[in-house]
Amino acid sequence: MHNDVQATLRPTLKSRLRWWLPVLIFTVLLAASLSLLSLSTSHESSQTQEQLITDTLWVKQAIQYQLEHNAESLQLIARDIDAQALPLPAVHARLDAFLRNTREAVSVTYVDTALKPLVSLKREGSGAAGDTSGLPEDEVAVVRAAMEKDRASNQVFFGNPHMAAGGPSMHFYAPVPSAKTGAPAHRGVLVGVFALSRILDENVPWWIAQDHEVALSDLGETVRSTRAVSGPGKNVYTHQTALELAGASLLLRANSLKGAPSWIPNALRGSIALLTGLLVLSLYALWQDIRRRVHAEEMLLDEAAFRKAVGDSVVTGLRARDLSGRVTYVNPAFCRMVGFAEDQLVGKSPPMAYWAPEYTQEYEQRMASVFAGTVSQHAFETVFQRAGGERFPVMIYEAPLRDAHGRQTGWMSSIVDVSEQKQAEENMRTQQERLQNVARLTTMGEIASSMAHELNQPLAAITSYVTGTLNMLRDGKPAGDDIRQILEKANQQAQRAGQVIRRVHDYVRKREPQRAELAVHELVQGCLPLVELQARKSAVHVTRDIAADLPHLLADPVLLEQVLLNLTRNAIEAMAAVPHERRRLLIAARADANDMLRIDVRDYGAGIPEEHHEKLFSAFFTTKSEGMGMGLSICRSIIEAHGGRLWFESLPDGTVFSILLPGIAVVEKAAAE
Ligand code: ADP
Repeated sequence: MHNDVQATLRPTLKSRLRWWLPVLIFTVLLAASLSLLSLSTSHESSQTQEQLITDTLWVKQAIQYQLEHNAESLQLIARDIDAQALPLPAVHARLDAFLRNTREAVSVTYVDTALKPLVSLKREGSGAAGDTSGLPEDEVAVVRAAMEKDRASNQVFFGNPHMAAGGPSMHFYAPVPSAKTGAPAHRGVLVGVFALSRILDENVPWWIAQDHEVALSDLGETVRSTRAVSGPGKNVYTHQTALELAGASLLLRANSLKGAPSWIPNALRGSIALLTGLLVLSLYALWQDIRRRVHAEEMLLDEAAFRKAVGDSVVTGLRARDLSGRVTYVNPAFCRMVGFAEDQLVGKSPPMAYWAPEYTQEYEQRMASVFAGTVSQHAFETVFQRAGGERFPVMIYEAPLRDAHGRQTGWMSSIVDVSEQKQAEENMRTQQERLQNVARLTTMGEIASSMAHELNQPLAAITSYVTGTLNMLRDGKPAGDDIRQILEKANQQAQRAGQVIRRVHDYVRKREPQRAELAVHELVQGCLPLVELQARKSAVHVTRDIAADLPHLLADPVLLEQVLLNLTRNAIEAMAAVPHERRRLLIAARADANDMLRIDVRDYGAGIPEEHHEKLFSAFFTTKSEGMGMGLSICRSIIEAHGGRLWFESLPDGTVFSILLPGIAVVEKAAAE
């Protein structure tokens, strides 16, 4: 059992895991939380960025399409001038319509080859120059060159953004290549001006404008127009793309109004910090708890080792039983005592291997009272059987076994082998008995020799008187007074001898029966310790069967005890050679007819051979080497002195000696008569 405890308490991989597992979980959780935080942040960023790119591309397509479409409209007018040889007023009307339809344009001018304006229109309130004076210098050469090209290769084209009077603008050109035969023969170029701000205003829808700051600029971003409906961009999410137009490049740049996502990481960070704090706290508490437990376990191990050492070293047998009577622990001393190994006892339920079959009933009664809690704390004496069948007397002390909560879990018994002690007591008793016998014999011898001595004189005197008388009668002398005198003297001597005998008789019968009222169970109880002492030594099981409400006796308790002791001793001695299971002694008492009382002493011994029946009650009859043969004869005298009867009956499996005694009522009635 202790080994099991130690095995369970030894620090194992499991108990180490118990400590490392939370640390591992904690680390993994922390890593997971941090990566979740970074993932969620980057997920949101990428979503915002993607949206920005989509929006930018959308705007780019819208602007590109619109500007190209506008340029094409202007080219159409240029072609019409060429093809239909439109007069200037007609050109004016067409350009006027163009300007009204093209909301991005702020002005449109028709210039001749010398770049002199022929028709010039500008949008009201736009602040545009409305002529070619604002033509960027680097574009003048390109325009001139374009006018030289033939009709087929002549294409509309755009100039790079630049700063103009009305703000950042870009020109676009639709050359009027050649004149048809006949007037009006113009050759020139239609110059349109887009204000960058208007391009943005017209082509960036509101739902994009409110989320992003959108800007158009040249590639170097020196000229720039911005549309920011809801304020400037945060410069966190930006995207730029180039607008490729014939002859020019524009840069479209979107800058999201959204800043970096802040509250989610903050909340997450906060909760992770809180979680971490709580985890660290709980880990600390766990650590403390584990330390306490480890300490307690160590103390428990020490305690268990200490208790095991105590249990192993004591010479008293220890045995623990649970509430069902199952043996849960035995110490080595107990195993040695009964001669069984620990595993033959532990875990077993009654009947136990060390129970002597003839005592089973007694054990069961005892167990029932132990478990009913009615057992006293006093020692209980019984007999156990060793593995070899040998019986030996034991003293058992029981104490309740309780768990940590004070609940009773069973019984702990300490068992002491008292065979040696009993042997010593028995030896002393027989020694005393022998001494008494010797003393008695000595007294008898003394009495006999003094009797012989005392009787010798009167008997010798009587002999000589009788011889003298006989001589006188033979010699024929007259009888007369002489003979009378001689016979009187002989009579005196005979009386002296009688007195001697009476004195001896008086001495021997010094002790008159001291009668007193007596209950049979008290009588039996009185001699029981001595009977049991001898019975245990001879492994005889004693049972009593005393009926209740028996009539009382008027008797000498000492003498009657002596009778009972003699009968029980004979019975025990008669069973010395029979097997252990048969060694039973029964003392029974019951009422008999006429207020008489009968006591039986029954044994299962060797019995009495037929030829001894007659002599059994005679003085000095014995079959024992150390016997005196006085026991039964004295018993019969005592019983008869009490007005009773003692006899025996031979049974097939033993002998029963019976005493019949008058009850107190009978004795008193007889006395009254
Ligand atoms: P002692 O016991 O000294 O021999 P007792 O007068 O008590 O003297 O007994 C006389 C004899 O009677 C014994 O030696 C024994 O042989 C026999 N005897 C007495 N009781 C029994 C008995 N219960 N069973 C068999 N024999 C008995």
